Order: sequence, then structure tokens, then C-alpha cells
Amino acid sequence: MRGGERGSTHTRVYTQSMEFCLFVATTSLGKLRDFRAAAQAHDLGIEPLPNLEEIQAPAEDGATFAANAAHKATYYSRFARGALVLADDSGLEVDALHGAPGVRSARFAADQGMVDSPDANDNTDVWNNMVLLQKLAEVPYAKRTARYRCALAVARDGVLLHTAEGWVEGIILDAPRGTGGFGYDPLFYLPELDRTMAEIDLVTKLSLSHRGRALAALLPRLG
Ligand code: IMP
Repeated sequence: MRGGERGSTHTRVYTQSMEFCLFVATTSLGKLRDFRAAAQAHDLGIEPLPNLEEIQAPAEDGATFAANAAHKATYYSRFARGALVLADDSGLEVDALHGAPGVRSARFAADQGMVDSPDANDNTDVWNNMVLLQKLAEVPYAKRTARYRCALAVARDGVLLHTAEGWVEGIILDAPRGTGGFGYDPLFYLPELDRTMAEIDLVTKLSLSHRGRALAALLPRLG
């Protein structure tokens, strides 16, 4: 156990010296890497929430990204008493689909009964992209506008302290391009760069992505 911590496996107590270390409630290495890169500029330490895999995940059934992020942050912060805990929720909003898949982005194909459940190790992203292409098959380029949105929330001891949002506008292509990124990135085209999110490097992605922008809005408020 590190200095500054005391308590049982499931609920640890963090003392004042840990104030500027933020615990992220995510098991995604990609998100953790994004969060760390952005936090560096603000002299803030970012660590995964200890024992996250042992904590039962809360339901993510809010109507908005912000509601889900706030719920996750307050929930997980009860397992690391005294610490600042960051949680996020993000996804894709397609105008021609009235904002869908939105908060259901990870489960877009699962909601159609095409896959059993979203799972980072299976082909969920491929199925999700296929459903998206099918739904937009008759939609012309000019009407394929969309955005990625990310909501962030920071809580301590079950109390919501800070929230922030970021988004990035794009166009949904009619065929995938690029091999980087994840999720809907090969279909998400950034006209000003003439690249999809799957065709840009990580530093560029973080500088303009919904997650990077939400973090840039949030971090100055912490310190
Ligand atoms: P969550 O924030 O992990 O719940 O992500 C929800 C879903 O939104 C992911 O499974 C992806 O399908 C999609 N998504 C969120 N952020 C991104 C991104 O940066 N690139 C591609 N897809 C994303």
C-alpha cells in the first residue's frame, strides 16, 4: 500500500497530500493514456482507481453523458475516501439519426440484437460501425453531420465537485478509412484535416478530440 492510503481493500482513505492526484474510474488503457497526457500539462498526477476491477460497476442508464459521468464519479468516489475521482462518459451523436446512438454508442449493435454484449475483446466496434453505415445508407454526404461528445465529472466522498464537456464535429463517411483509434473512428471524418479520427496520430487526436477538449476545460478548475 502506498503512503497516504489506509483502509480495507474496497474502501480506502486518502489523506490531504493526495489532493492533486486524480483517480480515474476506467479500465480502458486508451482513456488512461489520454487522461495522463492531458493532465501532465497541469502538473496533475493521474492514476487508475485502485481495485477498480473488484468494484461492481454501476448501471449506465442515464439519459445524457453528463448524467452517466456524474453518477459514476460519485459512485466510485465512495470507494476511495478523501480522493478526487474522475469518471467519463462519451459517444457519438448523428444528426440524421436524431442524436443516436448517443449514450447507447457502445451498445448500438447490441441494441439491435446483433451481438450479445459490448466487449472490448470482440468485434463490437465492427458491428457498431456496420449498423451505423446501414442506417445512413440513404443519407447524402451533406446530411451526415455528427459529433463525438465527452462528459467528465469529478467527485470526492460521494459529492459531485466539477463537471465539464467537450465535443468535436465531423462527418460520417460511407466507408471506413484508417487503422488507428477505436470505436467509430474509421468512419468519423474531420473535414478541416481531410482525415478520419483513425488516420491521425494520438497527439493530434488529443488536441482536438471531445475527450481532450473536456479535459482541457476541467483540469484548470481542479488546481
Ligand atoms: P464509453 O465512454 O467508454 O462509454 O464509450 C462509449 C462508446 O462511444 C465507445 O464504445 C465508442 O463506441 C464510442 N466512442 C467514445 N469515444 C470515442 C472515440 O474517441 N473514438 C471512437 N469511438 C468513441
